[in-house]
Amino acid sequence: MQGRLERLRKALAEQGLDALITENMENRFYISGFTGSTGWAIITKDEAVFVTDFRYIDQATAEAPAFQVVNNERKAIEAIGQQLQKLGVKRLAVEKNLITLGTFEAWREAFSSVELVPTSGMIENLRIYKDASELEIIKQAVKIADDAFAHVLNVIRPGVREIDVALELEFFMRKQGATGVGFETIVASGVRGALPHGRASEKVIQAGEMVTLDFGAAYKGYNSDITRTVSVGEPSDKMREIYDIVLRAQLNCVNHIKPGMTGKEGDALTRDIIAAAGYGAAYGHSTGHGLGVEVHEQPNLSAVSETVLQPGMLVTVEPGIYISDLGGVRIEDDVLITENGCEILTQSTKELLILPV
Ligand code: ZN
Ligand code: ZN
Repeated sequence: MQGRLERLRKALAEQGLDALITENMENRFYISGFTGSTGWAIITKDEAVFVTDFRYIDQATAEAPAFQVVNNERKAIEAIGQQLQKLGVKRLAVEKNLITLGTFEAWREAFSSVELVPTSGMIENLRIYKDASELEIIKQAVKIADDAFAHVLNVIRPGVREIDVALELEFFMRKQGATGVGFETIVASGVRGALPHGRASEKVIQAGEMVTLDFGAAYKGYNSDITRTVSVGEPSDKMREIYDIVLRAQLNCVNHIKPGMTGKEGDALTRDIIAAAGYGAAYGHSTGHGLGVEVHEQPNLSAVSETVLQPGMLVTVEPGIYISDLGGVRIEDDVLITENGCEILTQSTKELLILPV
């Protein structure tokens, strides 16, 4: 945690700010370690204070050892105001995309001697780079998802509903230690595969259909995110052709992505292959996104991303092709950008699996 505080302090100093306050669940967890639902982390150039209430004092003391925990006995806004005064804060960074206008106005009124400076991305920009302790947790979250995929291959059969497949995935991941799912599980079979975000429905899986599974484990505050598409019995020639193109695009990206490229160049590694095969219009989303305490965070691999990829960044690579009234295919890995290229964290096979009917 100390390294994260130091990096934040450097960013504050560069912008002439005395302190930052965050009440955002993910940023607060990242900077302090606190996993509860209420609390305010205030970080100055040499102090770190955590304001919370009776319910969370012991938890905050245990989870956020780098912070001095302050018990808010009456109104939180008063306790925060007192701390800001005590810390001598004049210019306070507030997270403009993460607090409400109501909070901003109430703070402005209550902290009259403090200038509130709207900022964005101060902690999120630190979160882009994963440290060793984060990678250890994320690798475990990925392993839980990989194991769940292997398990669910025995469940996907003609006659089974998509929601039963989703439930089996989720139940298995919970049994392996996941605290939940990172996002609503996608199980899209047959023509529903054309819906990039086809949440598991009551549709019954049929022989000859492909099934796209997109799911992830929430584990110790982090997330995994994997997609595989399998075939239940022999697929049509058309679907097999589509699968092969998506796989080629996915492999082209994970084999060539490397530090120094922009998010846009990373995106082109999948998009150019799919466009050259004639399916450009059927691939309407970006190649991937950052992954960490949130399922979607920076950096993006997209046609408009100028972010330069660096070692330590973690992104998904998930091209797809979607054709209405036919179906779709998506294949997604979680990859860590390294000094020379990338390390693929997700281990499940990407060869087309044809399940027995
Ligand atoms: Zn996904
Ligand atoms: Zn994803």
